[in-house]
Amino acid sequence: MKLANYVYGQWVEGAGEGIALTDPVTGEALVKVSSDGIDIARALDFARREGGAALRAQTYEARAAMLGAIAEALAAKRADYFDLSLRNSGATEGDAAFDVDGAIFTLKSYARAGKTLGAARHLKEGARVPLAKTEVFQGQHFLMPLTGVAVFINAFNFPAWGLWEKAAPALLAGVPVFVKPATPTAWVAQRMVEDVVAAGILPPGAISIVCGSARDLLDHVTECDVVSFTGSADTAARMKTHPNVVARSVRLNVEADSVNSAILGPDAAPGSAEFELAVKEIVREMTIKTGQKCTAIRRVLAPAPVARALADAVGGKLAGFKVGNPRSEGVRVGPLVSRAQQAAAFEGLAKLREECEVVSGGDANFAPVDADPAVSAFVQPTLLFCDKGLAARHVHDTEVFGPVATVIPYTDTTNAIAIARRGQGSLVASVYSGDAAFLAELVPAIADLHGRVMVVDGAVGANHTGHGNVMPTCLHGGPGRAGGGEELGGLRALAMYHRRCVVQGGPALLDALSRDAADAALLGA
Ligand code: NAP
Repeated sequence: MKLANYVYGQWVEGAGEGIALTDPVTGEALVKVSSDGIDIARALDFARREGGAALRAQTYEARAAMLGAIAEALAAKRADYFDLSLRNSGATEGDAAFDVDGAIFTLKSYARAGKTLGAARHLKEGARVPLAKTEVFQGQHFLMPLTGVAVFINAFNFPAWGLWEKAAPALLAGVPVFVKPATPTAWVAQRMVEDVVAAGILPPGAISIVCGSARDLLDHVTECDVVSFTGSADTAARMKTHPNVVARSVRLNVEADSVNSAILGPDAAPGSAEFELAVKEIVREMTIKTGQKCTAIRRVLAPAPVARALADAVGGKLAGFKVGNPRSEGVRVGPLVSRAQQAAAFEGLAKLREECEVVSGGDANFAPVDADPAVSAFVQPTLLFCDKGLAARHVHDTEVFGPVATVIPYTDTTNAIAIARRGQGSLVASVYSGDAAFLAELVPAIADLHGRVMVVDGAVGANHTGHGNVMPTCLHGGPGRAGGGEELGGLRALAMYHRRCVVQGGPALLDALSRDAADAALLGA
């Protein structure tokens, strides 16, 4: 069976043989995808003309209601998405929940927040700017929804959340969406779009999906569109330099890879609440979604005197995890999504092992539960230890996209700051400490290179939202190596789907334009 693409208001099967999606546990070929023969220019044009016009005719609150209805439609089919996640990604129930429930939660969050913008169709920003000696000529800044299409080119690890965390703010802004999910795990995204289309919630052209190769997609984007890319730094570099993207100054948001840190403070000694919280979170980050999260902890920075004890505590816990076929009782860690990802992880691990010792795992020949290693895509959860600090060549640069992390001892706060910054821009750092002096020095010193810094101490305890958890109300993204993009952050995300324009003129005109505009200050409220 070939999954159909939804373009120009129709379900269209791609031409040719197609590319098979596989079950990473059994190696079984599942369905095929193909974008061959799809007229991408026509699909984008239809989305802009039909979808954009219909969405912009609605108010923010009406579009917020659409998001709520989408969340309900998806929640009703949740079990189907869990099943597809298991078959197409080898996801455990917890892994599937992270992706699918995360998507529904994000949609609901935007449905709620969007209501506060009321019956407006654009946004007014700030006060009138005086431009003449009298009020006869003034300026007013507005944020106007883009008249183009929001093109999402997504990564394989979040087929559900990756689609809806982007689509929610775009649709709320009145911008139609066109998604190209990553090929290996496209099934869940394709099914979700199918269900949303069938539910008749969105106007024609408001959502399109093309599965398989992106082909000439970027040749057809324009200055009215926005491209939001999530994936590897290599692909991001190709997008940033694409001739059409450059020539037309197409707005491009990039979420790329990242070597995120967990940092233990000097007070996080064994037996302390901070030490225990760190151990729990590191283990969780390494195992949930088998470490295939852009936000996952890759480097663990610990004061030199406690680094060994920390590594032993994490390694000891990892050893107790059953790794294998998620259909099997008690299995908590599934495979990577494909043999190609497994090969890439092994390659990265080999590099890291040149300068690290293995604390736990690391056996390429380990036997997964109820799965044949010859056809499956498992990687044993592996904790490494690197005592080379800043002198290490690979641990600060190589993101092994799997259940792998490295403990790195640091000598003092200055050294911890330098190691965290050596990631050259990350999505998140989590800090486990209640030492006010340490935090006052460390947090501001790393904040400009991290999209998010999460600080946990004994008082926060289990109330934190998680190192790797992206909350819809908080910023997601990171500078430098992490891509330089910004997503979510509640209504702040709407800025990407609007363009700022200052209108200069007389008060009657500015009054008319301002009358039904919502206050842009609400985006940061
Ligand atoms: P990838 O290989 O870069 O692919 C990402 C997407 O780009 C896929 O949809 C892919 O399509 C598409 N693509 C590839 N070449 C293209 C081209 N020349 N033109 C247009 N589209 C193209 O990345 P991945 O392996 O799927 O994802 C893993 C990476 O994503 C990891 O490094 C991870 O850290 C990062 N990630 C970051 C975030 C974040 O929010 N910062 C979130 C998740 C993942 P095909 O699949 O058809 O090749």
